Amino acid sequence: MKITKIIVASHNQGKINEIKSLLKPFNIEVISSADLNIGDIEETGTTFSENAKIKAETTSLMCGLPCLADDSGLCVDALKGRPGIYSARYAPNRDFKLGMQKLLEEIEQSKSKSRKAHFSCCIAFAVPNKKTSIFEGRVDGKIAFEPQGNSGFGYDPIFIPEGYEKTFAELGDDIKNTLSHRHRALEKFIQTIK
Ligand code: IMP
Repeated sequence: MKITKIIVASHNQGKINEIKSLLKPFNIEVISSADLNIGDIEETGTTFSENAKIKAETTSLMCGLPCLADDSGLCVDALKGRPGIYSARYAPNRDFKLGMQKLLEEIEQSKSKSRKAHFSCCIAFAVPNKKTSIFEGRVDGKIAFEPQGNSGFGYDPIFIPEGYEKTFAELGDDIKNTLSHRHRALEKFIQTIK
């Protein structure tokens, strides 16, 4: 199937920009549900893939077009995988400065104090009247002792990917986009539509 236009079910501008730039080389036009005034879809699932599937299928049914949705989050070993699917809701009032502070304090107070963490991303691609496909990506790393850097979004200022000594927010979009969980999941998606 030749795909030229995709609806991305998200209101998170950071995510939308990343997906746009990752799909740019493939000449796929990306329209977000925010552009179409489609409201946020409630994430009632218990896993990344369930939530991604709910968002993609609901939006695709509403628009009658192929729709891609990502559900992603930060999983911290010392917190037994939290905040995970609750990463957005973990930040008080969606203020990620407060969210990062809360996370750093929780790690300090944890039994293990391990700083190991990973970002997970699950992408669901829904096409009307077809079975939804799921693609997963993950990047391992560690949590910094304090936020560093200004680029990216969410928890980027405290996540140091494996093989680097700087956070995603310090490394910048060009580097982040070659190794992120979202990039890895999108790569798998792209292989199937090529
Ligand atoms: P959701 O997938 O829209 O439920 O939200 C995922 C949340 O996980 C975001 O709001 C961020 O807090 C966090 N997150 C996911 N991916 C990233 C990333 O690449 N960088 C920083 N934070 C992320």
